[in-house]
Amino acid sequence: MANYNYDVVVVGTGNAALSAALSAGEDGLKVLMVEKGPKHKRGGNSFFTDGAIRTAYGDKEGLSRIIDSLSESELEKIELPEYTEEDYYGDIMKVTQEKSDPALAGHLSSKSYETILWMKEQGVEFQLNENQYFERDGKKVFWGGLPIKTVNKGIGLVEALFEKAEERGIDIWYESPAVSVEKTDGKISGVHVDSKEHGEVLVECRSVILACGGFEANKEKRAKHLGPQWENAVVRGSEYNTGDGISMALEVGAAKAGQYDGCHAHTTDYNSPRTGDYSKPGDIYKKSSYPLGLIVNVEGERFVDEGLDFRNYTYAKYGKETLKQTDQKAFQIYDSQVRHLLRKEYDLEEATMIKADTVEELAEKMGVAKENFLQTIKGYNEAVQDGDYNPGVKDGKSTKGLDVDKTNWALKFEEGPFYAYPVTCGITFTFGAVKVNERAEALDENGEKIDGLYAAGEMVGDLFHHNYPGGSGLMSGSVFGRTAGDFVKEYLKQPAGI
Ligand SMILES: Cc1cc2nc3c(=O)[nH]c(=O)nc-3n(C[C@H](O)[C@H](O)[C@H](O)COP(=O)(O)OP(=O)(O)OC[C@H]3O[C@@H](n4cnc5c(N)ncnc54)[C@H](O)[C@@H]3O)c2cc1C
Repeated sequence: MANYNYDVVVVGTGNAALSAALSAGEDGLKVLMVEKGPKHKRGGNSFFTDGAIRTAYGDKEGLSRIIDSLSESELEKIELPEYTEEDYYGDIMKVTQEKSDPALAGHLSSKSYETILWMKEQGVEFQLNENQYFERDGKKVFWGGLPIKTVNKGIGLVEALFEKAEERGIDIWYESPAVSVEKTDGKISGVHVDSKEHGEVLVECRSVILACGGFEANKEKRAKHLGPQWENAVVRGSEYNTGDGISMALEVGAAKAGQYDGCHAHTTDYNSPRTGDYSKPGDIYKKSSYPLGLIVNVEGERFVDEGLDFRNYTYAKYGKETLKQTDQKAFQIYDSQVRHLLRKEYDLEEATMIKADTVEELAEKMGVAKENFLQTIKGYNEAVQDGDYNPGVKDGKSTKGLDVDKTNWALKFEEGPFYAYPVTCGITFTFGAVKVNERAEALDENGEKIDGLYAAGEMVGDLFHHNYPGGSGLMSGSVFGRTAGDFVKEYLKQPAGI
């Protein structure tokens, strides 16, 4: 059997793994990355993202250091609320209902800005996030702490990092799933890889960085941890994130951490691929403009308050509610007053769209219980209250007296043509993973580190509970990946026997 020997093996090729490998490789360590999928399916969930990335940019000047292409005149036309480390930390704590480990949340928020500048040094380019502003008096008014995305979405991000990895001489084995981690005398000593090209081999190394995702693409584990209805969820990203890394870490003594019955999810086109289609990346199937319209199930009934809040605060929850409906199906419906306000995903040829001139015709084409549906629309229209409609703020224009009221942005559903978009729930990633500290070191049940074992990205447990502030999946991968690489360098400076 051939003998393979590296300083560090990084498992996975998503953003966290690439960040870890690049950081570890900075000092000339011998780095191997192993990827379960073939080369044309590399990059994990990171490849599928919209590229939105959250960082504590501070103010406009901080932003301009990230986005090189911003001219002075463009900057003048931007209204941007300040966003500090404290704001970012506060957002993590708010959306996780204070469940996030303060040390991990603090590490993510405090390292986010220097890490995004480091990403830039690795060749990643950034631009303004067109989904996070509205126009007012000729200015782009940003909201929500997320004004930045990577150029060419997730594809641009991972391709830039792969290019740097190649430049740095990092080896990458494709179709080579890591199977288990080897521990000798309490320290990591290698990783078993089942490689198409190299066979079943033990790669000897003193450190392993696990950055191979959660268990979102594993039906059985979804059903076990999240609940039986999750078996049928669409997987929005990589088909390979089946929880291997978590199992490998637990086998060598790492502790579980985080919310195992929690995940991030999104309403997605009913006809989207069952797992991410690598020829159609860029997050094109999500459907999140429902605060402007109504959502009904196959029985023709509404089941959530579409206008409870801005989409960022409700889409994860409503995705899950959709899973509870017959056939895990619902329809977002819009009339012509609002159709032009929908996000651009609704205009793509991949979007499943039903169009009709009358509400009756719409019901027939949707295949919902027609009489019920017509009753729902009639009751809703009668319950709509007067008020000023303004999709840019929570306008309080609501219905009154319904079992489920719409509490903002309630316009009558009355101007044809009418549109319906069938949707279901797509899982993004799972929250329960492995216990790590802010050095990305994997910890055992007693909080002691396992020498040589690190975890990053979706494999960091105890960071996100219930939800996450949008754009933090990528930033967490970058911060904890880079951190893992940094501490591997420090660890490997110690002689092997110590
Ligand atoms: C459609 C979609 C849109 C999203 N949009 C955004 C966004 O705009 N902003 C944001 O911040 N987050 C977004 N996210 C979330 C974000 O993608 C993730 O949080 C983040 O990319 C996770 O990075 P990672 O490196 O931990 O995992 P991944 O990028 O998923 O990488 C895991 C890698 O491990 C590999 N692997 C798995 N098992 C093994 C094994 N046994 N051996 C070897 N390799 C293995 C996989 O093939 C994969 O390459 C989105 C996710 C999806 C699915």
